[in-house]
Parts: sequence; C-alpha cells; structure tokens
Amino acid sequence: MSAVPSKIVCVGRSYAAHAQELGNAIPDQPVLFIKPPSSLVSLAEGIDWNRALGQCHHECELSLRIDRPLKNVTDPKEALAAVGAVTLGLDLTLRDQQDLLKKKGQPWERAKAFDGSCILADWISLDQVPALDQVQFKLEINDQLRQHGDTGLLIFKLGALLAEISQNFSLIPGDVVMTGTPAGVGPLESGDQLKMTLTGLKQDFVWTTQVH
Ligand code: ZN
Repeated sequence: MSAVPSKIVCVGRSYAAHAQELGNAIPDQPVLFIKPPSSLVSLAEGIDWNRALGQCHHECELSLRIDRPLKNVTDPKEALAAVGAVTLGLDLTLRDQQDLLKKKGQPWERAKAFDGSCILADWISLDQVPALDQVQFKLEINDQLRQHGDTGLLIFKLGALLAEISQNFSLIPGDVVMTGTPAGVGPLESGDQLKMTLTGLKQDFVWTTQVH
C-alpha cells in the first residue's frame, strides 16, 4: 500500500526530554497537528525549504502507516492493530516561524505543514517489528549523533496515542502518524548529510539523505 495519505497526523511533545529542551511543559493530553498530503516528499528528493522563512529544524520520528480504519476507538490494543507498516520520518519545522506563531497564539501550520515538511523513508512491514513499544532510532548528521529515540520512553504509549487520535480524526488506510521527536532537535544547513537508523526490528534499517 503506497497510496497518498489523506493526512499525516503529528504528535508534539511526546518525549519528556524534548518538551523540556524547548521550554514546554509535559502535556497531560497528546499535542496533535496535521500535515497535508502536499507536505510529503520522499527521502530520495532530499531536504529543501524557502530560506526566507528562517531556520528549519530536523525532528526525526518513528512514523506509522495505518492500514485499517480507526474511528472513536477506546481500546489501545485494537488501535495498535491498525498499524501496517513503520518507517522513520523527518517532521521539518520552521523554528523561527513557530516561535513567532506561539508568541502570537496562532496555529502552527506555517511552520509545520509547508511543502516538503514531511519526509518519509521506505515503509517496513509490521511483520519485521517484534514489539512496537520497543523500537529505537537515531539521527546522525555529518557523522555526529544528534537524536536518539526509544518508543519505550513515549509519554503516551502508541496504542493509547492512536486511540486518542481516533477520537478527533478518523484514520483511514494510508494515513500516517508521526509519533513525535526525541530531544536533540536543531537547525539544518546546506550540505548536511543525514543518516537515520531504525533498530529493534528483525534487522536494522539505515537511510541517508542530504540538505540542498
Ligand atoms: Zn515533530
């Protein structure tokens, strides 16, 4: 299944250390926002944005593909069973713009939903994943470790998270959920070489891309 998703649902502040690094409180309910299908590009296309909009931060995130419809689900197990594939993605964020929008109390779309803001690697079938709550990933830039995530450390575990999302947004097959970034976000520079590694699966997966 590689259809264009109807939407990409993203989770903010899902790891405590990341919420703290941006000076945000630990949320008592998941922070959700949506990227449109027009934000999606493949990893092979590389990373680009309108430099006039200021700094663009990397947020490396475990991403889930929904293969079965979810609407108003309350059972976390049932919600988790709708996941058909996983991969790593980059929730690109125009941090200068986001800081300004937060100050003004305005929505985040300008900073989060712009063209090219959602970068996804190849989907890996769930049969490669022994346990979704025990998946690790890392992002290296120019051979330096920048981010390291572990779904065991999520404030809201994945099943509960999907059930919660389905209260507001029905998820339809092909939709994507980006589960939030661990600490270590930072600005991208032209020429940066990015390497993302997904572990805790039956085998490790590695992807690379670069900033134009
Ligand atoms: Zn994010």
